[in-house]
Amino acid sequence: MKNIELHVPGFPRIGARRELKTALERHWRGELPATELEATGRALRARHWAAQRAAGLSFVTAGDFAYYDHVANHVLMFGCEPARFHFDGEPELARYFTLARGRSEGERCGCAGHDAAALEMTKWFDTNYHYLVPEFTADTAFTLASERLFDEVAEAKALGHAVKATLIGPLTFLWLGKCTDGTDRLALLDRLLPVYGQVLARLKAQGVAWVQIDEPILGLDLPQAWRSAFENAYWQLNQAGAPLLLATYFSPLEENLSLACRLPVAGLHVDGVRAAHELVNVADWLPVHKVLSVGIVDGRNIWRTDLDAALARLAPVVDKRGGNLWLATSCSLLHVPYSLAPETALDAELKSWLAFAHEKLDELALLRTALTAPDDAQQALAQARAAVAARRTSPRVRDAAVRTRLAGLTAEAERREAPFAERRTLQQARLRLPPFPTTTIGSFPQTPAIRTARAAFKRGELAAAAYEAAMHAEIEHAIRQQEALGLDVLVHGEAERNDMVEYFGEQLAGFAFTVNGWVQSYGSRCVKPPIIWGDVARPAPMTVAWARHAQSLTELPVKGMLTGPVTILQWSFVRDDQPRADTATQIALAIRDEVADLQEAGIAIVQIDEPALREGLPLRQGQRAAYLDWAVRAFRITAGAARADTQIHTHMCYAEFNDILPQIAALDADVITIETSRSAMALLDGFGNYRYPNDIGPGVYDIHAPRVPGRDEMLALLRRARAVIPARQLWVNPDCGLKTRGWEETRQALKNMVDAARTLRVEH
Ligand code: GLN
Ligand code: ZN
Repeated sequence: MKNIELHVPGFPRIGARRELKTALERHWRGELPATELEATGRALRARHWAAQRAAGLSFVTAGDFAYYDHVANHVLMFGCEPARFHFDGEPELARYFTLARGRSEGERCGCAGHDAAALEMTKWFDTNYHYLVPEFTADTAFTLASERLFDEVAEAKALGHAVKATLIGPLTFLWLGKCTDGTDRLALLDRLLPVYGQVLARLKAQGVAWVQIDEPILGLDLPQAWRSAFENAYWQLNQAGAPLLLATYFSPLEENLSLACRLPVAGLHVDGVRAAHELVNVADWLPVHKVLSVGIVDGRNIWRTDLDAALARLAPVVDKRGGNLWLATSCSLLHVPYSLAPETALDAELKSWLAFAHEKLDELALLRTALTAPDDAQQALAQARAAVAARRTSPRVRDAAVRTRLAGLTAEAERREAPFAERRTLQQARLRLPPFPTTTIGSFPQTPAIRTARAAFKRGELAAAAYEAAMHAEIEHAIRQQEALGLDVLVHGEAERNDMVEYFGEQLAGFAFTVNGWVQSYGSRCVKPPIIWGDVARPAPMTVAWARHAQSLTELPVKGMLTGPVTILQWSFVRDDQPRADTATQIALAIRDEVADLQEAGIAIVQIDEPALREGLPLRQGQRAAYLDWAVRAFRITAGAARADTQIHTHMCYAEFNDILPQIAALDADVITIETSRSAMALLDGFGNYRYPNDIGPGVYDIHAPRVPGRDEMLALLRRARAVIPARQLWVNPDCGLKTRGWEETRQALKNMVDAARTLRVEH
């Protein structure tokens, strides 16, 4: 007799129609009172629990909901809001949004000293979800300070559900935070554990069936002190008497496997997709009286599960566990869209290959039926099998020309015509740029007029010729502004682009787009990642006409502007039927052809943006070298089409590159522009120490705020940069693209920036 229970580690919260986003933004504009925002939250939770129950899950999950971010929920729950916010009796939700969004000077009481920047935001492991970073100091105190989790549990119980509560474990919570005074955050554990004990005791008293406690850091290369802290911490937590399901996900446990299996908890959840090879081992090591939850359905991607393969993977585990097993998605479904139902624009075949959150719940139910009452599952299994087989054998997925080209690739494709020193001489002769050349990162303000025109064109309400004329006018405007400002290398401004990945994906073969496939990125912000389902090819040039038009308007060089292969890959849902490296190489070849065509059209400088290169790094150190190898190769193949006198730029947003400087140098871009202003150029030190050989444009001003920096401020940053990087290698530019800024502030800031560069030239 088999006993299979079903659950999910978490469910998306933004709402199938992004109801939470709408409500939040209305609340922030002062149009929706907190009580109504809370009503929206309650309705969403009720709907999400009902879906879990309807799919036959054994428990609904409470505690995965958040108005902004689940890590920030814990900051409230543990009463560790940083003192710098000077909270003074504000309601909980108001404090929460202040932590998340910051507060500007005088907003509250008119006196100085109450302004506060939001908590820093950073990526949740290797996902595109961003969490708010808890801030600690040596004397951070923790208290049980919020009733929200218990209220949500009570809400679910009142609706008649069996409830599994979920929270982040103490070690992961501390790991995700930072000590602003440089002390060791692990030292706070002893102070934090009693509060966890209180939370668990309360949950037990409420009668929850289980408490899922997430410790995904068990999948990281942890310092020994952190590993050692687990046993004692969980021994203490176990005293509360609530049945604990320790959840890990996103990567294999490896050296932490036996530790995870031995911790004094009632159950263990493991990622059965990314750590499939460890399943049998876990089944062996985990004592039989404990629950094993296998995350067998991928929570990170949108492909229909190969159920036969899943059942084959589960078979030895079911045997070893005497038929007792929990099945789940590998991780929270936060990282996938809600449902395929509204995707009316996807063709039926492609749609049959996919599974979003709701469909994944059904897959879990079907897997259980297949294990417990195989006869009842046959028909549904056959259907699923047919869809998976169709995808595997579909001629649509393969493009013979792409495959031939890929197979024929040699190291030659990665090589520029000449080494950097020679290229620089040729490029200098062609471009005749002054020392400290000035440029921007690509986009200029996306004004309401631009958005309106693009939306009307997409809806078919604006004719192609009229749209083109409107964009040409925008390009001309951007070019004239840049000329008047005295910039040295111009850009066309990217007015025609909605998004730097979507723009290319829409024109490449092998990509599909959803109408409603939203995934939360942070707070109320959602993204709609493209789906790469087949071989990638470029049927026609994608940017050449715009670039040629821009260049025809001016004597100054205009940069061609492309998104790099790694970034396109990283910000999409990627096919899982071939290695990511192969998909990256296919994209690289497509973008390479664009580089060649831009060059043919007379464009002397091509920028290949790779802001996501660093964020693609695998969680485990051991896998990083392989990733960096193919990522660097993909970039080099893309740039390899450029002649020696064509200057290749690349751009990356953050500049914490110290650990991968050899690979950044191996890209061999003639110029790299990076974000450095917020660190006052400190991030540049690594490049200096490494003696980075090619040209660098360290950002001299932060484009994330409307503030206009003065000339002297930027001059000071440039002098700092010059102390670290030889003057001949330095470019002058903002941190990133200007699409979110207004024209007025942009003009003033760039004017000051050009002034700063000119002053530096005189000094020089
Ligand atoms: N070229 C892009 C822009 O200027 C780069 C954006 C990015 O780095 N995220 O908007
Ligand atoms: Zn950027």
